[in-house]
Amino acid sequence: MATIIAGGTVVTAAGRMLADVKVEGARVTAIGAGLRTAGDEIIDATGCYVLPGAIDPHTHIELPTGGGQHNADTWHSGTVAAAFGGTTTVIDMITQEKGGTLADALADWRRRAGPAAVVDYGFHMGIIDVSPPVLDEIDLMMREGVTSFKLYTAYRNRLMLDDAHLFAVMRRVAAANGLVLIHAENGDVIDTLVAEAVARGDVAPQFHALTRPAAAEAEATARACRLAELAGARLYVVHVTCREALAEIEAARRRGQPVWAETCTHYLFFTADDLARPDFEGAKWVLSPALRTPEDREVLWTSLTHSVEVVASDHCPWTNAQKAKGWERFDLIPNGAPGLEERLPFLYTYGVVEGRLTLEELVAVTSTNPAKIFGLYPRKGTIAPGSDADLVIWDPHINRTWSAKSHHCGSDNTPYEGMWVSGGVRHLLVRGRPVITGGALAAGTEGWGTYLERGSDRAVR
Ligand SMILES: [Zn+2]
Repeated sequence: MATIIAGGTVVTAAGRMLADVKVEGARVTAIGAGLRTAGDEIIDATGCYVLPGAIDPHTHIELPTGGGQHNADTWHSGTVAAAFGGTTTVIDMITQEKGGTLADALADWRRRAGPAAVVDYGFHMGIIDVSPPVLDEIDLMMREGVTSFKLYTAYRNRLMLDDAHLFAVMRRVAAANGLVLIHAENGDVIDTLVAEAVARGDVAPQFHALTRPAAAEAEATARACRLAELAGARLYVVHVTCREALAEIEAARRRGQPVWAETCTHYLFFTADDLARPDFEGAKWVLSPALRTPEDREVLWTSLTHSVEVVASDHCPWTNAQKAKGWERFDLIPNGAPGLEERLPFLYTYGVVEGRLTLEELVAVTSTNPAKIFGLYPRKGTIAPGSDADLVIWDPHINRTWSAKSHHCGSDNTPYEGMWVSGGVRHLLVRGRPVITGGALAAGTEGWGTYLERGSDRAVR
């Protein structure tokens, strides 16, 4: 017996058509008219768009904070939020422990995600402690389906690598045909500016943005691009926030380098001014790199699809109680905000409905491009015979006011509180199984999400 998604407008990055979609088992088997046969189960998509499940390639779900504690999400709440936001695959950031192996870190993340996730998941490996045995593990990770490696130029003594270690890892990843992800900010400059601000007594949330200037991001972006050039590595720059950093990426591309740029939903909606909201409200907008100017926000919108290929969430929610750890010092506020569930409805409302993005472009930046860059295409990232039946039945007639009271992630706050959105998920299938039906979470889906062994990455352009 097949399932027919009937009467919707099927949208991919390449175009749209009114058609039925036939699902058998975990796969799409046909797209077209007249696919129904007796006994098929029908999911009515009349008046709706049928989108390929979105892929969020930058999340921090259940981020460990030490002592068995974590940020505001569990693997269940985070992936439920993903599903309600039209996302059927997340690629989460693993961080190696100091002195630990990559294999142990991967096992830890898989152990926590496996029984809980309701959508599919893969991982990037964050390498923070470089040694010859760790470099040797890069080949092992590639075989395990972890084909991208995240490196940091900020957070000295915690996450940051110096240039020698950046270069060593980039060479090994290049030799293994993997992809380097870079968090590009000059950590030493930022640490100096933060220490000076704290010494002056400038401790309110707005100093988070003032001590993480755009030039510090641009410098590290330029350095990462040049190191990748020297190492022969392909580079994906996570959370690009500003014109200056984007200019460095474009310069690298003009030299012929394979470099991709990601921005995140919050940089398209908020600016540094939000950090100055009174009564510690600004703490909700403390995330890194920091929010920038209205001009930067506009540059990011106009760069989508041609210069910035991916919009991810950098989802990292915290409760108000966790944010309050920085009540007396902005540098102690945990960095991050929710975004997994927000990404699609907010891009749809303020991008597609307002005419800044086509639906096809929305699919490209949230699904098809990440699938191609991260070795999941064409299994995921499109709707085609043979692809996984990861399908979003997107109802454009839904209208609502966003609130932490009704969102699904584990946080009791959201920077998007009170904002208007149209469009939402009516039904959602992950590998053919309904995870959301009629706007509600289907029973028994906990643990349905499966680990994705990703392939070697392939180019978008
Ligand atoms: Zn992140």
